[in-house]
Amino acid sequence: MFIAQNLKIIRHNIPPQVTLVAVSKTKSLADIKEAYDAGQRDFGENKVQEMTSKHEVLPNDIRWHMIGHLQSNKIKYMASYVHLIHGVDSLELLAEINKHASKHNRIISCLLQVYIAQEETKFGLDFNEIEALLQSETFSQLQNIKVVGLMGMASFTENESQIKTEFHSLNLFYQKLKVTQPETSNLKLETLSMGMSGDYRIAIDEGSTMVRVGSAIFGSRNYIA
Ligand SMILES: *Cc1c(COP(=O)(O)O)cnc(C)c1O
Repeated sequence: MFIAQNLKIIRHNIPPQVTLVAVSKTKSLADIKEAYDAGQRDFGENKVQEMTSKHEVLPNDIRWHMIGHLQSNKIKYMASYVHLIHGVDSLELLAEINKHASKHNRIISCLLQVYIAQEETKFGLDFNEIEALLQSETFSQLQNIKVVGLMGMASFTENESQIKTEFHSLNLFYQKLKVTQPETSNLKLETLSMGMSGDYRIAIDEGSTMVRVGSAIFGSRNYIA
């Protein structure tokens, strides 16, 4: 019951054009079903095996988002069904996703993860690396993936102005890319994935089009994921 209520509150807080990804990592099938029955269709997981076993038993119209750091040997398990991969942080990974997507005759949508936090622990590429990747010959040949935007995580801090500054810089870069990178068959920038339970309101103020919210919907997690 509280899941449906939390979802309602969060949906009320976000504009209709912002996609809400319900982050269900470590959460039970029953919890996900409750969110599903309340109308939620986009779910995010950070482990491929966990996502795949949930995908196998839950309704087919769920759009599964891989939001975690990706190991290339796990791509094959989700290549047939994954809706969007958020955390792509190298050309090698993109090429590997492309390979598996092609086996399934699919085009898999991906977001490039950008490093914006003042922390050592977060994955991602810096602005220059993103531009170099998008302009590379190798990238232009990957026709079974499509880069549809960027994803970023702010620093884990109470300092809201720092979080705001980090999201702001990511949006500025995203807007710049939209102007400078011509749309091609495998590049169409339309998604800026930023914002989690603690900072999604700031992220939306700073231009987010997709928020990834876990604990504010499902309650705190039982173990570190
Ligand atoms: C777990 C996770 C989230 C959701 O975190 P909450 O604070 O529970 O909302 C969002 N994005 C990523 C990449 C995550 O790993």
